[in-house]
Amino acid sequence: MNKIILKAGREKSLLRRHPWVFSGAVARIDGKASAGDTAHVVANDGRFLAIVAVNPDANISARVWDWNEATQINTAFFHHRLEAAIGMRRTLFPRKPDEAERLVHGESDGLPGLIVDRYADVVVLQISSAGCHRWREAIIASLQKLTAARAIYERSDADVLELEGLAPRTGLVKGELDPPIVEISESGVRLRVDVATGHKTGFYLDQRDNRLRVGQLAAGRDVLNCFCYTGGFTVQALAHGAASVTSVDSSADALQLARENVRLNALPEDRCEWVDADVFHYLRKLRDQDRQFDLIILDPPKFAPTAATAERAARGYKDINLLGFKLLRPGGLLATFSCSGGVSADLFRKIVAGAALDAGTDAQVIDQFHSTPDHPVSLDFPEGEYLKGLLCRIN
Ligand code: SAH
Repeated sequence: MNKIILKAGREKSLLRRHPWVFSGAVARIDGKASAGDTAHVVANDGRFLAIVAVNPDANISARVWDWNEATQINTAFFHHRLEAAIGMRRTLFPRKPDEAERLVHGESDGLPGLIVDRYADVVVLQISSAGCHRWREAIIASLQKLTAARAIYERSDADVLELEGLAPRTGLVKGELDPPIVEISESGVRLRVDVATGHKTGFYLDQRDNRLRVGQLAAGRDVLNCFCYTGGFTVQALAHGAASVTSVDSSADALQLARENVRLNALPEDRCEWVDADVFHYLRKLRDQDRQFDLIILDPPKFAPTAATAERAARGYKDINLLGFKLLRPGGLLATFSCSGGVSADLFRKIVAGAALDAGTDAQVIDQFHSTPDHPVSLDFPEGEYLKGLLCRIN
């Protein structure tokens, strides 16, 4: 068995069951371990700590499979982990065959670097670690058995692949899917998802419950949906009787699919305004035109993947939230989100508070948002809690 020996005193995070070993903590690796191989991590005094997948050239040198020395990392191990993840969801949050859900959420489901989403009868997987890459065939075979999917599609094209030294891999793995568009049902509406070119595995499933919550507040209101992607919030707002919805995104393809999604649900297209623009610029334009809204949604992409980039990200959040507060009518609502792992819920609230202050508005937090519960957060892996949001009301 390959062995990773840590520097003296660097075992603390593993003793707290954090599932990553950073290269700076490694004294040496015994054996000829190549990326994805199984290894034991031991403390400097030789004590066993964890069984891991090693990646000698990456900044994250190892990701933990298990804490028990006797565990065998083999095909059965992956089958059991996948079965447990999928079984937990079936028991706690059963979703209908035509709905979508996250079946596997990486580290939080004991499978570092593996995301599996189900869009109706199509399963999409994303591998972003050398360890899961090594066991790719076993993972796909188990997913086929456990889900009975019509098709399995791979979207292993996340930015982090490069850090793991892996080449991107996308395309159909099993079954047939032509065109690669899947129609799902979500909280009473139908949505089309492009699993081949859409973001992440095609759609933002972490926002499912928040789309409904915010949509329910839209009746009779003029809504501004910033960073609308394929119109998830737009469709919910219209379905709940919004007076108008202005949807802004800088991706023409996303806007095109958003329009299709409105049509698919036979919702009033004359209440929609579609804007292909940079939100940072467009919010200023709206301010200069004295436009006002009753409900504004700000759901930007990840500005800060890590804590190191948090400061720059904070400026971005402050900017759009300040403008958002200024564009609200009295009594208006701001649903504002951050999916930056590097910005904590605490910091995000401070940024939003600073934005309200500088906008000269008196704002209350009336609700808080998290990702849907099929994106669990392991208590030992706080990085998993990336999505946070606030619902603010101004006087
Ligand atoms: N709210 C969406 C998800 C938003 S994802 C949902 O519920 O499905 C973030 C979106 O922001 C993407 O569609 C991306 O194209 C868009 N985007 C990124 N930077 C942007 C910018 N500066 N201006 C406008 N849109 C931007």
